[in-house]
Amino acid sequence: MRPSPISATVDFDADGVQHGFLKLPVSHDESAWGAVMIPITVVKNGDGPTALLTGGNHGDEYEGITALLKLARRLTAEEVTGRVIIVPMMNQPAAQAGRRTSPMDRGNLNRSFPGDPDGGPTKQIADYFTRYLVPMCDVALDLHSGGRTLDILPFAAAHRLDDLDLERQSLKGAIDFGASTAIMMYELDAAALYDTVVESQGKVLVTTELGGGGTSTPASIEISERGVRNFLIFAGITEGEIQRPPRQQYVEMPDASCYVQSEHAGLLEMTCALGGLVRQGEVVARIWDITRTGAEPVEYRASRDGLVLARRFPARVEMGDTLVVIGEMVDTLER
Ligand SMILES: [Zn+2]
Repeated sequence: MRPSPISATVDFDADGVQHGFLKLPVSHDESAWGAVMIPITVVKNGDGPTALLTGGNHGDEYEGITALLKLARRLTAEEVTGRVIIVPMMNQPAAQAGRRTSPMDRGNLNRSFPGDPDGGPTKQIADYFTRYLVPMCDVALDLHSGGRTLDILPFAAAHRLDDLDLERQSLKGAIDFGASTAIMMYELDAAALYDTVVESQGKVLVTTELGGGGTSTPASIEISERGVRNFLIFAGITEGEIQRPPRQQYVEMPDASCYVQSEHAGLLEMTCALGGLVRQGEVVARIWDITRTGAEPVEYRASRDGLVLARRFPARVEMGDTLVVIGEMVDTLER
């Protein structure tokens, strides 16, 4: 495989604070010798662990982007032992467009890993992370939220892994992030995720969902900022006391049946609340036919007892849309 066409304007081995770019050459009508410029900040002070902090993997997930823009502006080298690499807008063209996917090649970055140096811009970005940035790090935090189409209870999550020691460390990172919910997450299709690349290189990966609806709130930003601060303490890079919520709940997602997906198109009427508890068989949503009056709605029922982790945000639904995600409350996520 050829080297990445992406080059960095920062020196990853230099002490101090550097704000620069990852430059991806792109030749187009408006700029024959142009580049996609992905902002990056490196804060380094001597030897120690490296944390890779990312947001904007999906361009319409604003809690992570905002929290990392704020961190990049405030973090000083004196506070750090080791290195912090911050990329608030991983898929910069998508973030610039305010969309989940890239307008350049329709690429969904978190379905494009491990990437390809000869692919479109999205696969080229994925490849740079896979072969250059992830190998530099010890721990990675990837900040997602629901974006325009989902609203999600703020949580940090780890995954079940064959490497039990790595699973244990990742779970500790997810709990130390300090959101009031920590989850062992089941992914619908993990093969092309950033998470899978990080974990397969033996590095700790903590992922999050921190709200949604294509916006942010004071509460969701506060959770995100506290989480980022806590994560750097967890990583042994900054000093301080981890700030924990008064009460933390643990949720397991055992399989794909956690996701309630629509088999109809129409108008969504939610009958359960985000963060609420539901019983198996309870009606969680109705879908109304808006082409006529007098028709019965279609009812969707909870597949299990549990906590409503996520819901579709727009009221208009199409077939295949995820309506509700239900997780199982557990006493511990350790095994
Ligand atoms: Zn996302």
